[in-house]
Amino acid sequence: MTEFYRPTKAVISLDAIKKNLTAFQEKSGRSSVIAVVKADAYGHGMLAVSKTLIENGVQLLAVATPDEALYLRNQEIRAEILVLGATPASFIAVAQRRNIIVTAISLEWLSMAEKQLVEELDSLKIHLKIDTGMRRIGVQTDEVEEALDFIADHDFSFKGIFTHFATADEQDSSLFDQQVKALNSVLDKLDDSSVMVHVSNSAAAIMHPELACDAVRVGISLYGIAPSPYVEQAMDFKLHPALSLETEIIHVKKVKAGETLSYGATYRVEQDQWVATLPIGYADGMLRGLQGQEVLVAGQRVPIIGRICMDQCMIRLSKKLPVGEKVQLIGKQGKREIFIDEWARKLETIPYEIPCILTKRVPRVYSGAVENSDLSFHKPDIMVR
Ligand SMILES: *Cc1c(COP(=O)(O)O)cnc(C)c1O
Repeated sequence: MTEFYRPTKAVISLDAIKKNLTAFQEKSGRSSVIAVVKADAYGHGMLAVSKTLIENGVQLLAVATPDEALYLRNQEIRAEILVLGATPASFIAVAQRRNIIVTAISLEWLSMAEKQLVEELDSLKIHLKIDTGMRRIGVQTDEVEEALDFIADHDFSFKGIFTHFATADEQDSSLFDQQVKALNSVLDKLDDSSVMVHVSNSAAAIMHPELACDAVRVGISLYGIAPSPYVEQAMDFKLHPALSLETEIIHVKKVKAGETLSYGATYRVEQDQWVATLPIGYADGMLRGLQGQEVLVAGQRVPIIGRICMDQCMIRLSKKLPVGEKVQLIGKQGKREIFIDEWARKLETIPYEIPCILTKRVPRVYSGAVENSDLSFHKPDIMVR
C-alpha cells in the first residue's frame, strides 16, 4: 500500500457519498440517478467514488471527456459510461469497441461520427444533446427533427436525449422556464419511449422533482455540497459533505512583538504570539487568497496569517501546542465545522471550484464503505494512463 509521509490529506467519506446517493434515489422515485464523476469525481477520486456508487445501484456514470471514460474502462469499471462533452472523430471507433456512450452535440458532429463508424463493431451508442438555452453545446431546437431523422437513417444506437439548465440554482426562473418550454416542444417530437430522457443537474433535481424524467444527472450534491446558497436554504433534506482536509502542526515557535512573518513581511505581530507552521500551501490548492481563512486546531478557530507559501503556511495560536497537533482545514473538529462554502466565499467563487483545485499532491484517503482495500489510498497520478 502506498504510504504518505506528509500529514496533509483529503479524507473522503464514502459513507457520506452513499447517503447522498440514497437521498437522491428516494427523491427521484421511478427515475434513476446518473452519477456525474467528471473531473476526478469533483476532486474526490473517480475510481473509489465510482465503485461505491455502482455498489449502491448506479448503472450509468457520466464524465466530461473521452479520456475520463477510457480511464474508467481501463480500471475495469463495467457500468455504462456517458461522455457529456464533445468527442473527436478519432474516438468514435474506440467508443464502439469499449462500449462508451458519446454525446451527439450538433448536426455537424453526427455527420462526422457517421463517417467514422466501424461496421464490424457494435453500433455506436449516443445520447442527443439539445441546446435549450445554455448556448454551450447541443443541437439547436429547430434542428431536432433533422437530427432525429439522421440518427434513424444511420447505424447509431440511440439511447438518450438530454439538455442542461443554465440557472436551475437561482431564484429567478425566467430562463429556466424558457428552457423547460423549449424542452417540452422537443420531447413532443420524440416518439421512441425506449430513449432515456434526462435534464436535471443537482439543482434541478432538488428544486424541480417534477422534471426528473427517466433520470437525473447529479454531480455536486452527491459529494454533499449544495449547488448554491439559494438551493441550500430551499432544500428539504440534508446533504453530507464527503471531503475533509486535514494536516498537522509541523513547527511551533513564539514570534516577538514587532516581528514580521512570511514572504513580503506583510504580517506584523502586535504582541508576543505563538505561531505554528502547517505543511500545506498553494501548490496543494490552498490558494494565496485564503490568507486570513480560519482553521480548526484544539477545537478552536484560528486564522492563517501572513502570505501562504507554495508548500507551507502559518497560523496564529492562542497558546503553545505541540508538533503533531491535528489541524482541520475543511471539515469537523469537535463541535466546530468548516464548510467548503466558507472557502468559496473567501475566494469569491462557487463551492464547485474548491474540491477541484486541491491538487494531486494531496492524497485522497478513503473512509467508510470500501470493499476493496486497494481503494484506501488514491494514487496521486491516477489520471495518467
Ligand atoms: C457537470 C454536469 C452535470 C452535473 O451538475 P451538478 O450541478 O454538479 O449536479 C450535469 N450535466 C452536465 C451536462 C454537466 O456538465
